[in-house]
Amino acid sequence: MASLADPVTALSGVGEKRASALHQLGIDTVGDLLFYFPFRYEDIRTRSWQELGDGEKVTLKGTVIAPPVVSRFGRNRNRLNIRLLVEDLPIVVTFFNQPWLKDKIVENSEAAVFGIWNAKRHSLTGQRLIAQAEAGDAGMSPIYSVNKHIRQRTLVDLIHQAYEKYQPLLTDVVPEPLRQHYKLEPTAQIVHDMHFPKNSEDARSARRSAAFRELFLFECRMQSLRAENNKHDAGLVLNYDLTAMREFIQTLPFELTNAQKRVVNEIVADMKRPRHMNRLLQGDVGSGKTIVAVLAIFAAVTAGYQAALMVPTEILAEQHYQKIARLLAPMHVSVGLLTGSLAGTARAKTLHDIATGRLNVIIGTHALIQDAVKFAKLGLAVIDEQHRFGVNQRRELRRKGLSPDVLMMTATPIPRTLAITTYGEMDVSTIDELPAGRHPIETAWLKSNQTGPVYARLRAELAAGAQAYVVTPLIAESEAIDLRNAEDLYERMTKALPQYHVALLHGQLKNQDKNAIMTAFSHNEIQVLVATTVVEVGMDVPNANLMIIFDADRFGLSQLHQLRGRVGRGGRQAFCYLIADPKNQVAISRMEAMVKTTNGFVLAEKDLQLRGPGDVFGDEQSGLPHFNIADPVGDSAMLEVAHATAGQIFKEDPALHAPDHQGIAAYLAELKRRNQYFD
Ligand code: ADP
Ligand code: MG
Repeated sequence: MASLADPVTALSGVGEKRASALHQLGIDTVGDLLFYFPFRYEDIRTRSWQELGDGEKVTLKGTVIAPPVVSRFGRNRNRLNIRLLVEDLPIVVTFFNQPWLKDKIVENSEAAVFGIWNAKRHSLTGQRLIAQAEAGDAGMSPIYSVNKHIRQRTLVDLIHQAYEKYQPLLTDVVPEPLRQHYKLEPTAQIVHDMHFPKNSEDARSARRSAAFRELFLFECRMQSLRAENNKHDAGLVLNYDLTAMREFIQTLPFELTNAQKRVVNEIVADMKRPRHMNRLLQGDVGSGKTIVAVLAIFAAVTAGYQAALMVPTEILAEQHYQKIARLLAPMHVSVGLLTGSLAGTARAKTLHDIATGRLNVIIGTHALIQDAVKFAKLGLAVIDEQHRFGVNQRRELRRKGLSPDVLMMTATPIPRTLAITTYGEMDVSTIDELPAGRHPIETAWLKSNQTGPVYARLRAELAAGAQAYVVTPLIAESEAIDLRNAEDLYERMTKALPQYHVALLHGQLKNQDKNAIMTAFSHNEIQVLVATTVVEVGMDVPNANLMIIFDADRFGLSQLHQLRGRVGRGGRQAFCYLIADPKNQVAISRMEAMVKTTNGFVLAEKDLQLRGPGDVFGDEQSGLPHFNIADPVGDSAMLEVAHATAGQIFKEDPALHAPDHQGIAAYLAELKRRNQYFD
């Protein structure tokens, strides 16, 4: 019996070799082939040359009036020239490097060529020969992404064949009522119109339905994964001590913001539930995520568990360690630090104290999960600046045989819709408010020959007792040259500001030295910190209120926002100067966006517009799913609907028993069969 799961070799004309070429495109089954959609269409309707503008892509049809000629030029290059009579106008058509077309062109017969029109010369740069059958069809020719082992034409023929034979098997996954409501096409129609649209209207409508279908299936998989997580995990119940929490909150030097209170409630309620917490805490730089983490950590400790905080750099680990140990000291919580540079007996002792449970809280770098660290009773793992670590920390923890509740924190704010896709199977808590009394950071963009006001401001702020960061990016290919840039800047600053302590912080320093410099800076023993990007993440020195960024156009928007977020943490007005001579429009737009807003969510949206999600989050690293048709940014409204409706379905019919949900069940079963369910 035929099935969409049949291997492509079930089609005639597909042997081992072709199957392997198709496999490289991700096509293994007939179903894969039918859902291998074109990424664009060409309008191949024949038009009259008289209506064409220069450089337009078009199909021209005419009579071949001379024998085709192939001539060679350069190394391995050739051109095929054809003279074609198009409505009484003789034109020249040139194909580059497709000599085999010569045999398909016969003098005195008709030919249709798709190519680029040169209006001045009355010539066409041919891209492809349009077959009679194709030209007779509608005017839309699908373009597929192919590899060198398989041609467009072959793919089209195979898809035709598959469609003829398997079309009755194309069943629906998006439930009927949903399709009705959002005017979406049934699957068979989608497949037909994606591959063989009659006109661009059909193609557009099919694309919309296909995109929704793809997003909906993705969301269904996420829902299903989430349900399974909750079912199989006998998660920890962290029965925290509310009274102790209240006491602890009383000792804090400030009042929590409403947003902080709300997310703390969300988090501890989740920790108390008998399921594994898998939660993302997002909030703009400076929104106060650390204290939220500390409260969650304290809650875990009051429940009799250990908690770990993992951060991306040793400097940050050190800084967090000092702050958190101090905050938790009055509550008699013991806090330890574990980083890669801890060695010898100190390290052995820390490991021992973790294993015996003498330490309640452990703060560290990646060393925390990479090493043979044995926890006595780990209940909560917090991962700070999680975008700095890949996506699979949770899996990594599990591989270590640990399955605590997990809280990830990120200051790269993710637009809501993208958070849904990136962290589809996570819960998200958002701090959407800054602590009271913060003034928006005043930001200015200056050309490199207009830095006068910057130095004036620097002197004024230093005189008033404030501190400053001066950041220079890594520009050169070689670290040596970059270091020289930073050193030059450092010397200039030292000369210009003899009465202050200036220090240089860069990536090649030993961790110990970095820590010493950061500690001195945080104690105001250093007033001006010249640094490469190592200050980007997490640093919190409230007395620093000036951020000067040289060659700011070399940084991405989210990095710039991170850097700027280092200041404006104290009570006084903070300033950020971007010194840059951007060369292109995108870089100019970045500078303008920085000047215009200090809101990280707005900037993240802007960044997405400017660069696209792959670049923003890094395709591999981000765990951002790959979509064939849908664009999670452009189609964000659809994504919201897919998310909400899939959630509703799994809530009301978790076993997917309803007739309308059979398609979803079958889809998930097929993914499992193919081992693609967890990817
Ligand atoms: P981020 O979210 O960027 O990690 P931090 O947790 O480092 O931010 O907090 C930024 C600064 O704001 C810190 O100096 C912190 O002590 C302070 N802070 C946090 N919450 C509050 C609050 N509710 N009121 C006043 N200051 C706060
Ligand atoms: Mg932070």
